[in-house]
Amino acid sequence: MSDVVIVGAGMAGVQTAVCLREQGWRDGIVLVGDEPHPPYDRPPLSKAVLLGPADAEPDVRFDVDFAALDVQLLLGVRAHALRGADHEVVTDRGVLRYDRLVLATGAFPVPLPGTAGLPGVHLLRTLDDAAALRPVLDARADVVVVGAGWIGAEFATAARQAGCEVTVVEAADRPLAGALPATITGHMRGWYGEAGVRLLTGTAVAALEPGAAVLADGTRLPAAAVVVGIGARPATGWLAGSGVDLGADGAVLADDRLRTTAPDVYAVGDCASFPSARYGERLLIHHWDNAVQGPRTAAANVIGGDEAYDPVPYFWSEQFGRFVQYAGHHTGTDTMLLRGDPGSAAWSAVWLRDGALTALLAVDRPRDLAQARKLIARAAPLDPALTADPAVQLKSA
Ligand code: FAD
Repeated sequence: MSDVVIVGAGMAGVQTAVCLREQGWRDGIVLVGDEPHPPYDRPPLSKAVLLGPADAEPDVRFDVDFAALDVQLLLGVRAHALRGADHEVVTDRGVLRYDRLVLATGAFPVPLPGTAGLPGVHLLRTLDDAAALRPVLDARADVVVVGAGWIGAEFATAARQAGCEVTVVEAADRPLAGALPATITGHMRGWYGEAGVRLLTGTAVAALEPGAAVLADGTRLPAAAVVVGIGARPATGWLAGSGVDLGADGAVLADDRLRTTAPDVYAVGDCASFPSARYGERLLIHHWDNAVQGPRTAAANVIGGDEAYDPVPYFWSEQFGRFVQYAGHHTGTDTMLLRGDPGSAAWSAVWLRDGALTALLAVDRPRDLAQARKLIARAAPLDPALTADPAVQLKSA
């Protein structure tokens, strides 16, 4: 009998357990998670959950029967050390021995320096975080959101829909500055205004006072609540000295088989980066689809397979009444073409490298997204003139 221990009971950990059973693993599976709740899905936390009735339990649980799968679920249990040489995980409830270990500890939101634990300051990662924010929305309170990234935009959307006065403060000169070029994000700025959200860019929250956020220039913004959405870091601090190598970004450095540098230890989801042959660089992906796809490969390799992981990354975001989807991966040196006017209701942007499609961003054009995913997977060459015509279906040259 040999045991697989999975640390982290989010999407990647749960999916690993499910895939192990689907792929024929008959021995023990122990799934350890530090949250007290039955495993649940995170994307609804910044969307429907915030707007649901305050007296009803949000329906975000994974539809997985752990007993039927014979998966031992240890909830409210935190791993705090890994003894790689001994094949042991030290938890706050004792030591777990493993034959194979899968790291799936996800990421934690970066706090605003000096504000952790201050009343009225919120992060948005967990079900408990979302539950703490529901009364803020119910009270239609004045809210300051720090960071105009994906989470900030989604929270601002929900808060505005609930009737809150919302100000988003972004240190960069535009929303999503780290993810997308100015040609695009310049138009996204308008989405905030249309929704009645005040967006202040190129400035930062310097201090928090009771009921207010104070900007670097002294401006006081009324804020019954401050929601911080300035990024996330892999939850890997507990692996120090374990034999599992981490990158400068804190991610577990997995190889293309999702193996780590410690024997019999694998890593999946938000906590790990992997080398992508498709893109010629190491990718750290903090999106749901990666937490669904990676575990299939990891489970196959845990069982003794030899599968490489090299997905076409995908994510979506629902913001300001728009469905935004992105497939692939682009860099600043790829050539960007627009399909349609980014000032209009529906448009896409594509990125080409050496004439082949590497990535696509679609705003309310789900068909473009579906076609692009297949074309990116094939590294299909595209005709730039046809590609730039939104009336023509995306297709290989
Ligand atoms: P997690 O979901 O973070 O799960 C890791 C689990 O491990 C957590 O429960 C954590 O508490 C636990 N853990 C950590 N350390 C330990 C330890 N030492 N011991 C035991 N347990 C531990 N992606 C999209 O593509 N589209 C979206 O619209 C979208 N919306 C999102 C909205 C929100 C509010 C958030 C937070 C994320 C969203 N994402 C979205 C991202 C997506 O949810 C994540 O990529 C995905 O949840 C990652 O899954 P994971 O299992 O790797 O990590």
